[in-house]
Amino acid sequence: ARRFNVVIAGGGAAGLATAASILRRRPGISLAIVDPSTTHYYQPGWTMVGGGIFTPEQTRRSEEGLIPAGATWIRQPVAGFLPEVREVALGDGTVLSYDVLVMATGLTLDWAAIPGLEETLGRNGVTSNYRYDLAPYTWQLVQGLSRGRALFTQPPMPIKCAGAPQKAMYLSCDAWRRRGVLKDISVTFDTATPALFGVAAFVPALMTYIERYGIDLHLRSKLVAVDGARRVATFERATEAGSVQVEQPFDMLHAVPPQVAPAVVRSSLLAGADGFVAVDPATLRHATFADVFALGDVAGTSNAKTAAAARKQAPVVAVNVLAALDGKAPVAAYDGYGACPLTVERGRIVLAEFGYGGKLEPTLPLWLLRGTQPTRLAWFLKEKIMPLLYWRGMLRGHELMAAPQKAPGA
Ligand code: FAD
Repeated sequence: ARRFNVVIAGGGAAGLATAASILRRRPGISLAIVDPSTTHYYQPGWTMVGGGIFTPEQTRRSEEGLIPAGATWIRQPVAGFLPEVREVALGDGTVLSYDVLVMATGLTLDWAAIPGLEETLGRNGVTSNYRYDLAPYTWQLVQGLSRGRALFTQPPMPIKCAGAPQKAMYLSCDAWRRRGVLKDISVTFDTATPALFGVAAFVPALMTYIERYGIDLHLRSKLVAVDGARRVATFERATEAGSVQVEQPFDMLHAVPPQVAPAVVRSSLLAGADGFVAVDPATLRHATFADVFALGDVAGTSNAKTAAAARKQAPVVAVNVLAALDGKAPVAAYDGYGACPLTVERGRIVLAEFGYGGKLEPTLPLWLLRGTQPTRLAWFLKEKIMPLLYWRGMLRGHELMAAPQKAPGA
């Protein structure tokens, strides 16, 4: 087996940021990033692609150009985790051994969980900003629609960027409003969640937009089937009398699939009951294997699964990985920070930033962000600043506003 001090499974937002952060702190270390993908995607940009603001190309770069200097990129998928012998098996049958493992494989979009959905994506008015190739189709549909029915859906939690399903809807409604056709389009939002947004403080501002756009809101309602050819979606809606199945015809359907831990993670010894990696919420170290850490979407923590969370988690994991290599206990702690820029209209965003337990954690002073209200400043951050912060800051290990806190007892 090839041996590395650190093996990072997954070179997405979380894996690259962690690699860069570790190598900045200790350049001489041997570190491998295992990821089969030759393309890296800035997924937070897909909402903007679906809203006609970014081009798809603005959200992709070659993986090769993002691998930090000093890291070895291994272009294979991890096919098995063997934490008892400190090894990972790769897709081509080779084995890597490690002193410390970092799990950052992201999550899996479970399109197949909704019968009929996958085969009609990109056709028959069915789209999703959750895929690079489909986000442009969202904008195409929005531009082409002048009357009829538009359905937007959100699956049960956990999902990455819990606000993204409704962001797609608000930007679409805003485009229709500007064209003067919104009054001829009936818009419905079916979300499996019991509330419009998980943190209550942000709900009133969002409800203002639900009302302004005339959206028919259904809580505790799940998309369960799609018939693309007939253009009919089936929902299971909770009512006081129990759950009922409702068929809804559509001209446009923006669907978001249920999301699960990758099969290779779910079936490993590292998975918790929900399939995600069982780590301590503060130190991000595995519950039983002291030489394993996890961050990003694959971590079984209760924070919002966002790139913003990974940005704060990466330095925590980097510091704790180095401590583990030195035989020491974790020294840094993560407070659950995540951020969800809710694009309520073109030019304005409600910037939801919060930690574990829904505690509000604004980066900028609240008077600048007008509390939980939409602002132009937050839109400017999303459109101009956050992509820069991602490509030039986070992925390169520059930890602007992300200095880790001390772990309890450290
Ligand atoms: P990813 O970035 O998905 O990377 C996972 C990597 O692991 C990939 O490169 C993949 O190839 C690799 N991989 C997978 N399986 C294996 C394997 N078996 N072996 C090796 N490698 C593997 N976040 C925000 O902060 N703000 C937003 O506004 C926002 N909006 C979003 C909108 C949309 C439409 C979507 C889809 C996401 C959004 N997010 C947003 C969420 C954000 O993109 C994710 O939380 C973030 O990318 C998580 O990083 P990650 O590294 O854990 O996973």
